[in-house]
Amino acid sequence: MIPTVPELPADVQALKERLAAFVEREVYPLEQRVAEAGRIEDARVDELRRKARAEGFSMLNMPEEAGGGALSMLGQVALEEESGKATNGLGFAVLDRGPAELWDIATPEQRERYVAPILRGEFREAWAVTEPGAGSDVSALAATAERDGDEWVLNGEKWFVTSEGEPGFYLVLAVGEGEQLLFIVPRGAPGLELARTPGFLHDPYLDHHPELVLRDCRVPDANRIPEGGGEGAREWFLVERLFIAARCCGAAARSLDLARAYALEREAFGVRIAEHQGVSFQLADSLTELLAARLLTYHAAAAFDTEPDRKVVHGKVAMAKLYASEAAGRIVDRALQVLGGRGYMTESPVARFYREVRVDRIWEGTSEIQRLIVSRGLLKRGVETYLR
Ligand SMILES: Cc1cc2nc3c(=O)[nH]c(=O)nc-3n(C[C@H](O)[C@H](O)[C@H](O)COP(=O)(O)OP(=O)(O)OC[C@H]3O[C@@H](n4cnc5c(N)ncnc54)[C@H](O)[C@@H]3O)c2cc1C
Repeated sequence: MIPTVPELPADVQALKERLAAFVEREVYPLEQRVAEAGRIEDARVDELRRKARAEGFSMLNMPEEAGGGALSMLGQVALEEESGKATNGLGFAVLDRGPAELWDIATPEQRERYVAPILRGEFREAWAVTEPGAGSDVSALAATAERDGDEWVLNGEKWFVTSEGEPGFYLVLAVGEGEQLLFIVPRGAPGLELARTPGFLHDPYLDHHPELVLRDCRVPDANRIPEGGGEGAREWFLVERLFIAARCCGAAARSLDLARAYALEREAFGVRIAEHQGVSFQLADSLTELLAARLLTYHAAAAFDTEPDRKVVHGKVAMAKLYASEAAGRIVDRALQVLGGRGYMTESPVARFYREVRVDRIWEGTSEIQRLIVSRGLLKRGVETYLR
């Protein structure tokens, strides 16, 4: 039985509090610099990452045998919530996560060659699944993989490849021998081309999202994930969805906090604006939705750790992502309204969240796709399955 409201173990709670203090002390001033400069300086991010590593916030998602923290999903979600309070994607540099989903399906050689350097902080990976003709519908992938002796020849186009700096390799999903296969394509592989790096609404942001072209790109068979590549990509989606929900809770909490503080201090028409119900009711709606989003997210995280039926886990995670990302959009929007003109200045974290949380309804599966997952599960398994 999954606890409806899971309790955080004491060590996770202590870690969460330490992380919250770190984000406030180290990241908030950096955000201000970014707002002033209009860009993120690499050297400062490197310094932030080093400090976070020294504090023990990195690689907590990786299993012990990989040298990671083997933290439960509930614990990871509790930390992601804090990292979500940072804007400009800077939280990613604090909770420097490793590719746990890749670790699970990689060969020992692939782990040594590609995952171990990530754990040492030498480079990062990037997932290349989406294509110009295949976004929500991953079954429509058109990238191809053809075997040629002990090599594979890859052709296709990949979009929105979220990358932090220059990734050490890309995880490319392509169709070969009648199924979706996952390949490790190192940066600089012959035939791999970085076509374009478009701008996005959330810029300046830690990550960029380039478009890749694979033109007769050759990789050795040793770079093919032996089995379960498509499944591995779906597991990555699942985990990322949960983290999106958690970060949305963090973003919403910080925005609401700022709106509350302003409402208590600002006066208009002879009283503090918090005394106008037009303002205080907005705050009430936001707090209610935030708590609901948080409970759902923590519940889904507990289900991830303990529910044996992965289909049910998918449904609960989809509900968390759907609700938390949509609630965060409303909460941030109301916070901006309460802050008035000050909320619209880019030096306000709320203005930045206003742009940044919008993508949470899109990436890793749009709200509509989450509704599809939830409705299909409900129709097949019934209501009670999802209430346990
Ligand atoms: C900033 C950013 C970073 C990203 N990072 C990555 C990454 O690292 N790796 C990666 O592989 N991908 C990444 N993506 C891609 C992302 O996962 C896709 O954008 C997302 O899955 C939606 O696909 P699409 O944009 O092609 O939209 P489309 O699939 O074209 O959908 C368009 C609209 O149609 C709706 N729709 C589609 N099908 C249905 C349906 N059956 N029922 C109802 N509505 C439907 C959608 O909900 C949406 O509103 C990223 C995207 C962004 C914006």
